[in-house]
Amino acid sequence: MGQMDDLDGHPLYSCNRCRNPITLRQNLLSKAFKARSGDAYMFSEAMNVVLGVKREAQLITGRFVVADVSCRNCGEVLGWKYLKAFEDSQRYKIGRFIIEKSKILKEYS
Ligand SMILES: [Zn+2]
Repeated sequence: MGQMDDLDGHPLYSCNRCRNPITLRQNLLSKAFKARSGDAYMFSEAMNVVLGVKREAQLITGRFVVADVSCRNCGEVLGWKYLKAFEDSQRYKIGRFIIEKSKILKEYS
């Protein structure tokens, strides 16, 4: 964040499998998430993705309605999007994307 990042050009994250651009570095909100495969990042926005069927999920932090997020190009499941939170303290996650670190690649445009 700040000036050092400005020198990096325009970093973005792309699909590790097909290099489809998925989100911009500037949309990164947190690196402190966990998914089945390991570390995951939270983003405010994602592009070139397809949302799966809504489902209820019991996660470590509570119960949510989520939808899987897949790459629009290759179909790889990258993570999920929070659609509803059942606990007030978790409402800030609604509309956010969790993308597994192992599924994306940081690139510079
Ligand atoms: Zn892909």
